[in-house]
Amino acid sequence: MIGEPTPSQYDWRFTFMGFPVRVTWLFWVITAALGYGIAMSANSSLSRILPAPGVGPLLLVWVGCVMVSVLIHELGHALAFRYFGIESHIVLYHMGGLAIPTAGFSFNRGGGRRRLSHIDQIIISLAGPFLQFASAILAAAVAYWMGIYVPSASQVGNLLEPLGIPNPWDQGSLTINNPWTHSIFNFYILVSIWWPLFNLLPVYPLDGGHVVQHTAAILTRSDGYRQAHIVGAVVGLLVAWWFFNNQNGINALLFLSLAMNNIQAMQGYGGPPRW
Ligand SMILES: [Zn+2]
Repeated sequence: MIGEPTPSQYDWRFTFMGFPVRVTWLFWVITAALGYGIAMSANSSLSRILPAPGVGPLLLVWVGCVMVSVLIHELGHALAFRYFGIESHIVLYHMGGLAIPTAGFSFNRGGGRRRLSHIDQIIISLAGPFLQFASAILAAAVAYWMGIYVPSASQVGNLLEPLGIPNPWDQGSLTINNPWTHSIFNFYILVSIWWPLFNLLPVYPLDGGHVVQHTAAILTRSDGYRQAHIVGAVVGLLVAWWFFNNQNGINALLFLSLAMNNIQAMQGYGGPPRW
């Protein structure tokens, strides 16, 4: 389990669908920093066809879209926990989001409560990326229905063409009339496609890493952590290398640190010798 970030007086707190939500101030700072380049290029491509809103207002739209998208991701985990009789609370912080079980959570060590099976925990891990991805598809459908051209949806639609299906979000029939609705759909769909894909990478403690751990636990009748850390270390280093070669230093560092955490955890489990 990842440690919960310490609460502070600058956190924004509210309740959503019965789940307490806490957004730390660092979430806003990191989200804005990650979106600055995206807001800049969105503004310059909009300015070719419309009076563009400017980088600052687009950055605010970006931050709002990321917040809603990550909240929906965590809501997927929280609803899955609730399905298994476990309540949780949601934290959005500098590394993204967490759904943390608060009540009814028990591994049944004499507590007598229901134990989550490995399959249950795989379902909980997949529910977050799934709900977020489903929200992207819903948003893309609404944008299509409203006749709005959305580049981030069109990019995904291009993947259908080798299958003989014409891209429904092709610019042909769709237009950009309003920079605000266009940007909301474009940013929301962009985040809601890439965030779940990132999180499904088999690098512990991302959702994909949890799936590896519980799958390994089923297959090997162990707790599965050792296997998850080995896969996490190898895949983490490969993904870091890929980002490094594609001039994406922030993501390269992120995956490098995830890989190092997995290597450290392996040493703690009596894995490969220390070096
Ligand atoms: Zn997740």
